[in-house]
Amino acid sequence: MFSKILIANRGEIAVRIIKTCRRMGIKTVQVYSEADAGSLAVEMADEAVLIGPAPAAQSYLLADRIVDAVRQTGAEAVHPGFGFLSENPAFARRLRDEGIAFIGPNPEAIEAMGDKITSKKFAAEAGVSTVPGHMGLIESTEEAVTIARQIGYPVMIKASAGGGGKGIRVAHSDDEMAEGFAAVKAEALNAFGDDRVFLEKFIVDPRHIEIQVLGDKHGNVVHLFERECSIQRRNQKVIEEAPSPLLDPETRAAMGAQAVALAKAVDYDSAGTVEFVAGQDKSFYFLEMNTRLQVEHPVTELITGVDLVEQMIRSAYGETLAFGQDDLKINGWAIESRIYAEDPYRGFLPSIGRLVRYSQPEEGERDNYLIRNDSGVREGDEISMFYDPMIAKLCAWGETRDAAVDGMAGALEDTHLQGLGHNVPFLSAVMDQPRFRSGQLSTAYIKDEFPDGFHGLAPARRQIDIMIAAAVAMNEVQAEQAGDPSERTDWIVLVGDQAQGVTLGYDDEEALVLDLVGEDRALTLDGIDWRPGLPQFRAVLDDEPFTAEVKRVADGWTIRHRAAQARVRVLSPRIAELYARLPEKQAADTSKLIQSPMPGLVVSVAVEPGQEVKAGETVAIIEAMKMQNILKAERDGKVKAVQARAGDPVAADDVLVEFE
Ligand code: ADP
Ligand code: ADP
Ligand code: MG
Repeated sequence: MFSKILIANRGEIAVRIIKTCRRMGIKTVQVYSEADAGSLAVEMADEAVLIGPAPAAQSYLLADRIVDAVRQTGAEAVHPGFGFLSENPAFARRLRDEGIAFIGPNPEAIEAMGDKITSKKFAAEAGVSTVPGHMGLIESTEEAVTIARQIGYPVMIKASAGGGGKGIRVAHSDDEMAEGFAAVKAEALNAFGDDRVFLEKFIVDPRHIEIQVLGDKHGNVVHLFERECSIQRRNQKVIEEAPSPLLDPETRAAMGAQAVALAKAVDYDSAGTVEFVAGQDKSFYFLEMNTRLQVEHPVTELITGVDLVEQMIRSAYGETLAFGQDDLKINGWAIESRIYAEDPYRGFLPSIGRLVRYSQPEEGERDNYLIRNDSGVREGDEISMFYDPMIAKLCAWGETRDAAVDGMAGALEDTHLQGLGHNVPFLSAVMDQPRFRSGQLSTAYIKDEFPDGFHGLAPARRQIDIMIAAAVAMNEVQAEQAGDPSERTDWIVLVGDQAQGVTLGYDDEEALVLDLVGEDRALTLDGIDWRPGLPQFRAVLDDEPFTAEVKRVADGWTIRHRAAQARVRVLSPRIAELYARLPEKQAADTSKLIQSPMPGLVVSVAVEPGQEVKAGETVAIIEAMKMQNILKAERDGKVKAVQARAGDPVAADDVLVEFE
């Protein structure tokens, strides 16, 4: 076996690869950019080599630097992780020429599957069902419109070199086709340096189902069943699971057989993924093949017990697959949530910063489920604007889908991040939605369920109880610690503007008992785990444990339980009375301002003082994490002042443009 492997990646996937290497007794070398000098991966690896400044183009994407680092450390193989150089055939070939093993497929297979047009042709030849469409390149807008009419709208416009959800657009009409064709071409040239575009039928309301394959250098290929990745935003996966709630054994076998046929057709000799879109009627069509380890590979590992990174290493070393198709079985159900540094309350815009606080549930078995957490960061680390905004991948495994969903909901409840915007409340919302529970998934799920964006979920009855109980308990704990217990037993608790009277007492076991005034019900709160200053409140309410995120605000608390958040105040009846008579405070009028939705760099400002602007017109463009965000006027108006210029760094909420 190799004795030393170099990891040409960063973040959680680097950490994940190091873990397997350690288990196999293989030494690791971690390359890093200046931004990652203090990273967890660098700390965990046996050796580390600085390869350049923060921008990936000056570090992680430089094959020369990687090869130098291999030479310098005597590593025998390179694991590229995903992204960066992982699907770059020139890099794989270069390593081969230099006598260094590439832990991935052979360069010819990468090349064959490297662009969507070529891979689709290969797939069709290998007997794989492909999305109806036009297999060739399209040169002009006129040609695009003609072909789109032949295919029949809606039509998907795709960049052949596309990836990561970029370079994809749907057109429903000739006009949209003409506009979209130009847009995809431009985006593809900009993002991938390749403006080849093709068209295929847009499958309405589909599901994304992909097959994991694994091959060796001796012609053996097996599949490790499917993953469903239908919960997507901007064509990018957010929640994945295995197996898929849609498939029956026959469809699974058919998809698996097609994926294996395609892999064999290109002499595939590592871990890879064949992606399909599937109709709700279980029809399925090939999308693309990803010739690398996939972000969501842990769910497959959890249901099969196979360590895919280990298998990639063994295949790269030349070992024969130690198992055949019949040795593989699906065991239970696994779900993965991608925790991103993005603010769900602000249209999921990137929200980077320092992880001032970071705690996640411990990995391992619980009563009904198992938690795995692939993370690459520690408390105090910075999520920078240079790389992917993914913080961690939280996975839950259970015997059944319900157990796995319960596990995920609990694990998310136990996850606390502070210092940046993150999508944990959003992920929690999905876990608590009946539609997700029922497995009625589609790539339109997020659009269907959150048509106006994400604003949290209204608290359910138990969540209101949790908020009331937690606020009252925190009040008591604080008063006690201050040496000033009021001994008041009657309180009014405001959850938002809903008032609930409570009467406090203690039962024989010293648990807090809250009688709810006007309701024939009491809450029993036990095992309180909180002290002033802690951001998480843990306790057992009516025999069920919970964790809530709590924050002290001027006259009370902000409490979040899962996707529900509310302002909670504990008042004496006299103060509550006064409150009721106070006029509502007016929120500051921000309707005349265009503010930066996130920290970033001003790319351009399209307006000047005195200019009349119509609703929908572009006002400014902000760039953060390689994404350009176009800020548009929300209503007609005249520009009063412009407070930002191209090149300015801006913080979230900085005013860019003011209207009269
Ligand atoms: P796909 O949607 O094609 O299956 P994934 O969702 O697995 O791809 O990842 C999206 C894209 O972003 C891929 O090209 C992947 O290689 C890249 N990527 C994702 N996360 C990272 C990361 N942490 N570092 C580098 N590249 C990444
Ligand atoms: P990428 O390389 O960006 O991952 P894919 O071809 O895998 O590109 O497509 C990404 C996502 O876009 C898919 O997971 C699916 O949700 C959607 N998609 C792609 N092609 C189609 C299609 N023909 N019809 C409907 N949805 C599609
Ligand atoms: Mg894809």
